[in-house]
Amino acid sequence: MCLNNCYIKQKNHIIVFNKKEELKNHLSTLSKNNTIGFIPTMGSLHEGHLSLINRSNSDCDISICSIFINPTQFNDKADYLNYPKDTKNDLNLLKQVECDIIYMPEITDIYTKNQTIKKYNLSGLDLFLEGKYRPDHFNGMVSVVEKLFQIIEPDYAYFGEKDLQQLYIIKELVKDKNINTTIIGCPTIRERNGLAKSSRNKLLSKDDLGYCSIIYQQLILCKESFEDTPFTELKKNIEEKLTKEDRIKIEYLEFVDIKTFKPQQKFNIKTKYALCIAVNISGVRLIDNIIL
Ligand code: AMP
Repeated sequence: MCLNNCYIKQKNHIIVFNKKEELKNHLSTLSKNNTIGFIPTMGSLHEGHLSLINRSNSDCDISICSIFINPTQFNDKADYLNYPKDTKNDLNLLKQVECDIIYMPEITDIYTKNQTIKKYNLSGLDLFLEGKYRPDHFNGMVSVVEKLFQIIEPDYAYFGEKDLQQLYIIKELVKDKNINTTIIGCPTIRERNGLAKSSRNKLLSKDDLGYCSIIYQQLILCKESFEDTPFTELKKNIEEKLTKEDRIKIEYLEFVDIKTFKPQQKFNIKTKYALCIAVNISGVRLIDNIIL
């Protein structure tokens, strides 16, 4: 809560920075008297992202959103090149939700030429699920988030539960590196049919979008029965339902211990579980989860 020299939000007023030095300069006086909330994104914004900005606005004096498609977290070049971009619409949306500052760097503002990415120790949280199927994804993601935290030095940073493993890895990063930022996890925002909102949904046909409602339907059903039905049976059931039509290919479907993200085979009353899934539909990769 700001008591002195407080920043006053102005409707439809947003400042865009492309250079970290200019942003740092701008923040150097502001951040002394105001709390800073930060929302890192890769753009092509939707209501999921906007929910993080809204949460930041209610917690903090100033909200900063970054838009940067980070090449080092893509293990598939085509996926990187196809990643949707919609800068004009992003700026409009961010104005509408009264975000204060946007940081939209060029790659050279973040990485030096031929920079090698250091290896992070993520306490094994990166060994399973996304870490297993997208080698180096988390290392690249963590390296850009650490750089952004160093530039912005936010008091709070907001991440979606939609990327649950990412959220827990960032919590681990902050703990391990003693970073003075509180990480806030925010609930997954969904389409009306239950599909988790994602920038990649734009790449789906209307028909596939409709079909994908089956993913969340199945996750919800599991929440009701995971304590008394063997995990193998539940997984087999979901696999059968999702692949009944030949459209969806399941990459992984795992009950994990939310503390380690290690896949679990049986229910144990002391463990907190999440059911995590990654699928491919018409060449588009989607992930989702439910905390059980
Ligand atoms: P991205 O632009 O996909 O890197 O996502 C930026 C942030 O928005 C991450 O913290 C995501 O977890 C979060 N996010 C993406 N989709 C959703 C959603 N449907 N609901 C809530 N948060 C989301």
